[in-house]
Amino acid sequence: MLDCAIIGGGPAGLTAGLYTTRGGLQNVVMYEKGMPGGQITLSSEIENYPGVTGEISGMDLMMPWPQQCQKFGLVHEMVEVSRVSKNSDENFIIYKNDGTQEEAISVIVATGSTPRRAGFIGEDTYIGKGISNCATCDGFFYKNKEVVVVGGGDTALEEALYLAKICTKVYLVHRRDTFRSAPNTIKRIRETKNIELVLNSVPQEAYGDAMGVNGIKLKNKAGEIRDIAVPGVFVFVGNNVNNKVLMQEDGKFLCDINDKAEVIVDISMNTSVAGLFAVGDMRIAAPKQVVCAAGDGAVAALRAIAYVDHKLHG
Ligand code: FAD
Ligand code: NAP
Repeated sequence: MLDCAIIGGGPAGLTAGLYTTRGGLQNVVMYEKGMPGGQITLSSEIENYPGVTGEISGMDLMMPWPQQCQKFGLVHEMVEVSRVSKNSDENFIIYKNDGTQEEAISVIVATGSTPRRAGFIGEDTYIGKGISNCATCDGFFYKNKEVVVVGGGDTALEEALYLAKICTKVYLVHRRDTFRSAPNTIKRIRETKNIELVLNSVPQEAYGDAMGVNGIKLKNKAGEIRDIAVPGVFVFVGNNVNNKVLMQEDGKFLCDINDKAEVIVDISMNTSVAGLFAVGDMRIAAPKQVVCAAGDGAVAALRAIAYVDHKLHG
């Protein structure tokens, strides 16, 4: 029996792991299907994590986190969790994709979010073959070439700036004429000579051949089509919440969620089910920042410690 099961090993899950183990819980396992670190490891540059000055990549920022947790006894099991349920003893069952299961007194769900599709023709066909959601991973393939970036949020603008250092030209395609990014980032975009803004426009169709993408057709608000011949298209149009592990066999969710499928929590990260906590990008009103995800993880861990103590010792 685990004192606590943590699902997801991004900033939220790792911080929950640090605080639960250091706070005295026994048998804490963090289930992370890949390498720990979370989606920030896709980012080429993070400049708003407190105390970290200068340019640092998401990968470098996250590198020491698992090591720090393991020192206090956190176990990382590299497996995907398929479902979490509650049993008749009021404990939780963690069902894993390898067919095994584990019982836990408390659970902290920290499964984050994944990139959303923009929904244009060819997007699914060419994903991984010219269409990408990760500039750090794939930008190098387009060194000295032209690329298109789709989106108008922080991610699209920051990744466009990163790509502008590698590529000869970046077309930044956004469906409106104002951005929802930080003012400083917008200023940098406007000052970067090899970024062309293509506003009030949406992708219609990415086309190519067996080798990958050859170009993308865009449609503006006036209905005009513009064809840009590029080998690479980077799509950053937001994220969907990863809440699948909370869905039960009858299709209902284990705890309450809102209309955007985000998990409803209170200020202590309690869900509607006792002993079940949700943290980071997957919870309601998440600011979607590394520092906030980490803060959530710490809050939930402290509550989980109190919950387990009460359950075991009354
Ligand atoms: P995530 O980081 O998404 O981690 C969730 C983890 O859960 C993943 O590792 C995933 O593999 C794992 N997982 C999911 N489902 C399962 C399952 N069923 N079983 C096992 N494991 C599972 N924030 C900033 O503060 N500053 C920035 O500059 C910044 N830049 C960004 C740039 C990019 C390109 C992106 C994509 C995001 C950026 N963010 C930034 C946002 C930040 O990355 C997120 O807010 C943060 O990572 C959320 O942490 P999390 O732990 O909630 O989730
Ligand atoms: P986001 O803020 O949700 O922005 C998504 C962008 O994509 C919006 O501009 C949206 O247009 C556009 N879009 C959505 N669907 C589209 C579609 N189908 N076709 C074309 N365009 C579409 O997502 P994000 O940029 O990934 O950021 C997610 C969160 O992480 C945010 O809270 C952000 O602040 C945070 N983040 C922070 C940093 C940082 O602090 N430095 C860096 C990265 C991310 P509209 O504007 O018209 O809606």
